[in-house]
Amino acid sequence: MSRVAYVNGRYLPLAQASVSILDRAFVFGDGVYEVCLVRGGALIDELRHFARLKTSLAALRIAAPVGEAALKRILREVVARNRVSDGLVYLQISRGAARRDHGFPPPGVAPGLVVTAKSLDPRLGEANAERGVAVITLPDERWAHPHIKSLQLLPNVLAKQAAREAGAFEAWFFDSDGFVTEGSSTNAWIVAADGVLATRQADQSILRGVTRATLIDVAAVEGLRFEERPFTLEEAYAAREAFLSSATTIATPVVAIDGRPIGDGRPGPTTLALRRKFAAVAARS
Ligand code: PLP
Repeated sequence: MSRVAYVNGRYLPLAQASVSILDRAFVFGDGVYEVCLVRGGALIDELRHFARLKTSLAALRIAAPVGEAALKRILREVVARNRVSDGLVYLQISRGAARRDHGFPPPGVAPGLVVTAKSLDPRLGEANAERGVAVITLPDERWAHPHIKSLQLLPNVLAKQAAREAGAFEAWFFDSDGFVTEGSSTNAWIVAADGVLATRQADQSILRGVTRATLIDVAAVEGLRFEERPFTLEEAYAAREAFLSSATTIATPVVAIDGRPIGDGRPGPTTLALRRKFAAVAARS
């Protein structure tokens, strides 16, 4: 079955789906995006994704291309047309297509909207969770606003590639004081040596992950000791457990950082419990 994309008002076969070469997403990376997990055909934590999308759009002063109800319909239609039961739906909003000029285009230039969806075999995620994954670390050289989910992902792209070339799954960034910020496409967590679950506070230095927020809810339901605080690389190396989170990885155990085993080098019980309980707490719509 060929895949279908929504592009500026039309549903098109992926091979024929295209935008103008003047689209500012293409020229400047001038836009935002969201990735929402699909499980059993339902969108997971859609409201949190919509809330973050609103924040990203407002931060960049990009108008919403369609209302929230229409956007929800489009997401469902793309999921249905691609027959995605387990996978993800991707949406991207650009500042629109206009004559190339760094400043904003004149009023009346419509923002661009692209939506795609793809199936992902949940067994691959489960296999990663059973084995655990490795991460490498790199200095965080991104701009000062990673909390905006913008299309400007070049440092993230280079970091993910560096991880793959090192045989790792993800790269974690650290700031100039040696504190871990987040991964190239995931949030970073540890169960510290004292047994307290920790992840960096969601300030401007990281993306406020939707999965992160839901896992914090899971931790509360489970009565886990939890702190939102920065942790250093040294603390991560010495942690009992480490894991990463995102819409598609949920909570995936990290068993090695920079080649050093974390804990006993196997997926930790707290991580696996959070992963197991995620579905019961996440919102399905
Ligand atoms: N951090 C970064 C840099 C990301 O790109 C992502 C997801 O794409 C995340 C964290 C995790 O966010 P979420 O849980 O909303 O997928």
